Amino acid sequence: MPPIPGSGLAKGLAVTLRTMTKKTVTAQYPDTQPELPPRSRGVIGLFEENCTVCMLCARECPDWCIYIDSHKETSPPATPGGRERSRNVLDRFAIDFSLCMYCGICIEVCPFDALFWSPEFEYAETDIHELTHERDKLREWMWTVPEPPALDPAAEEPKEIAAARKAADKLAAQRAKEQQEQQEQQDEKGGNP
Ligand code: SF4
Ligand code: SF4
Repeated sequence: MPPIPGSGLAKGLAVTLRTMTKKTVTAQYPDTQPELPPRSRGVIGLFEENCTVCMLCARECPDWCIYIDSHKETSPPATPGGRERSRNVLDRFAIDFSLCMYCGICIEVCPFDALFWSPEFEYAETDIHELTHERDKLREWMWTVPEPPALDPAAEEPKEIAAARKAADKLAAQRAKEQQEQQEQQDEKGGNP
């Protein structure tokens, strides 16, 4: 049967009308920022206070794109006659994001929680060399890392928090005892002029 003249046009208009009444799903980036999932792998942030320069992340990175420089510093012994202590001081921490494949191995292996995923993704460059980002930039990205989700209320208390709470309770009990003793001494003095 030959097609009815104008039926194609009518079908096309019907599709247009149907689409016009539907809610749009297109986000007008960059005017509208995308709502990214909290665990998005955008870029890597460095919390350098936690970094002990153990080099584990650089050794395990499959792309060899983490560059770390450091020097050793010695500090005097904590007690007289003790040994001098030495520690590594970070001089350079950089990641070449033109090589990084966002596998997350560096973040997984860091034993000191110094590396984190940030959902930040707007760091495109026109020159590939500009994609090597140094510690200041990595630190800046640290502040875009979302907070971890709250613990399950039925979860076991983390060891660090339990230890800190125990120490705080002990200190509070000691202070309360001292205050009580002071109060008793004052009462005794007040009763015996
Ligand atoms: S995410 Fe993977 S490739 Fe990128 S720096 Fe870390 S270990 Fe290397
Ligand atoms: S593994 Fe962690 S602590 Fe060790 S050098 Fe890398 S970021 Fe620093």
